[in-house]
Amino acid sequence: MTKRFDFEAAHSLAGYDGACRYIHGHSYILHVTVTGTPSTDITDPKTGMVMDFGILKQIIKENIIDRFDHCVMLRKGSPLSCEIKNEYHRVELFDFQPTCENILLYFVEILKNRLPVTVSLHSLKLSETNSSFAEWYLSDQTCDDM
Ligand SMILES: [Zn+2]
Repeated sequence: MTKRFDFEAAHSLAGYDGACRYIHGHSYILHVTVTGTPSTDITDPKTGMVMDFGILKQIIKENIIDRFDHCVMLRKGSPLSCEIKNEYHRVELFDFQPTCENILLYFVEILKNRLPVTVSLHSLKLSETNSSFAEWYLSDQTCDDM
């Protein structure tokens, strides 16, 4: 089952040789897909569900949307990053370049241990624009990655 989430955020790819080195924003779209077996217990109010969409929404809201919506994402050490953080507060400073790919992997790390034990994270898809997105699949991971 998959749920879509939307958030607005700005980033800059410091040192990049294109326009994305400038601070700019995206309307990010995050698709979260979990797998599991639908409950067959007819006394369970969640019968027929792999997971209540509402619970998934709550988990993503608390761990990702509330933190990243309307934030600025910068690499630590990029020009004025500390000043921007001090002035604007909702700023995420990463050890890595805040590309779509790296942000997606960061979200995987955040969500790894925050889902109910009855489901597994199957995949995440993060879109920066209508035509540009990154995807992560559990099935692509080796034991060393986990
Ligand atoms: Zn961008």
